[in-house]
Amino acid sequence: MKNGLYIVATPIGNLGDMSPRAAETLKAAGIIACEDTRVTKKLFSLLGIGLNKTFVTLHDHNEEAQSQKIIDFIKNGEVVAQVSDAGSPLISDPGFKLIRRCREEGLYVTTLPGCCALICALQLSGLPTNRFMFAGFIPNREKARQDLFRRYKNLDATLIFYETASRIVKTLVAAGEVFGGRDMAVAREITKMYEDCRSGTAAELIAHFEANEPKGEMVLMIAPSDEELPVDIDVEALLREKMAETSLKSAVKSLVETYGLNKNEVYELALRIKNEQR
Ligand code: SAM
Repeated sequence: MKNGLYIVATPIGNLGDMSPRAAETLKAAGIIACEDTRVTKKLFSLLGIGLNKTFVTLHDHNEEAQSQKIIDFIKNGEVVAQVSDAGSPLISDPGFKLIRRCREEGLYVTTLPGCCALICALQLSGLPTNRFMFAGFIPNREKARQDLFRRYKNLDATLIFYETASRIVKTLVAAGEVFGGRDMAVAREITKMYEDCRSGTAAELIAHFEANEPKGEMVLMIAPSDEELPVDIDVEALLREKMAETSLKSAVKSLVETYGLNKNEVYELALRIKNEQR
């Protein structure tokens, strides 16, 4: 096998989802870049793959330093397989900096695709799949969570977030405040024995999780906005119009919330317009 970096997806709950090609790659690799070595070694044991390999940990906090080590291994002719604890590496998991560095160095990089929780959840949800926006984990702080929801509120795309059982009810309350009665879905324990995907409004999902304790890993999805937004909006013209009616701050807030624009950029534009008018 050619030396290089092999990005290997692993199952998210069902060992049978490991592809034969991915398993062969893990077997052939001399170096395994992973998150928690205990989790990865357990997977290897279940797959009957020997542990006589070098395991290198890769986390968000050490990715830069470890990338150099991995690049040196590849330059020395090694096959390096990168896995995360479960699912597709790089998707809300480490790896992006490593792959960028390998590409800069002109090294061989390839992918062994497989499970990805967000794609499985979207397939189960019954929500539109033609356009979607994955926004990773929902922040824990209330203000950051509200800001995130407001930023994407008017997007004509199904919104997908990773979430945990302990926070789902709080998150649904916040989502209900921003998205009102819009359709949502929560997919849980995908590919596992108690796989479940439940749809409804935020209020209906909250009622469900109040009656049935939320458990397991989950993905929250929110239907696209059905408000027709102009495709090419003239932000400056809209801002001038708003600023004629209300304060600079309210005009910026209104545009940011309605069109999901970048707050700093709109604010700078508003200041320029105000200075011109002096
Ligand atoms: N890179 C992985 C992927 O995309 O497949 C995801 C890693 S991320 C650290 C873990 C999150 O993915 C969980 O908190 C949950 O939101 C979601 N997830 C992982 N496995 C899942 C499953 N079996 N069912 C539902 N959600 C899952």
